[in-house]
Amino acid sequence: MAYSHYLSTDRDQRYTCDNKECKHSTRRALMLDTHLDAKTWTCNTCGEAVLIELLDHAGKTHRVYRLQAQHLEPGDRISRDNDLGDWVRVFDSKPAMNKRNEWFLALKDVGKWFVKPDCYFHRTL
Ligand SMILES: [Zn+2]
Repeated sequence: MAYSHYLSTDRDQRYTCDNKECKHSTRRALMLDTHLDAKTWTCNTCGEAVLIELLDHAGKTHRVYRLQAQHLEPGDRISRDNDLGDWVRVFDSKPAMNKRNEWFLALKDVGKWFVKPDCYFHRTL
């Protein structure tokens, strides 16, 4: 399956910070560039990952974090592309220890994946 290093943002509807400690957590929405870093998808104020509301092709809303492979943990459910219909469970997430400095992911029903550590995935809540 083909995937892009950076996910498309075409279906993004809204960004919020759900870190209760953050003064922006009560904001109705965060503005791109002003309140969040669109390269890392983190809140400019607290540095935590921002919550993103996305629409899938059927018009259903998904609430996700946009995380790099190296920030995924076992038990996370992720989507590998913008289709958002293809959620898989992460079994393992660790450095691949190979010469290409890749990141290793073990995904349920998919198997082993080697990706760039900063390759982005959508993770559900
Ligand atoms: Zn914040």
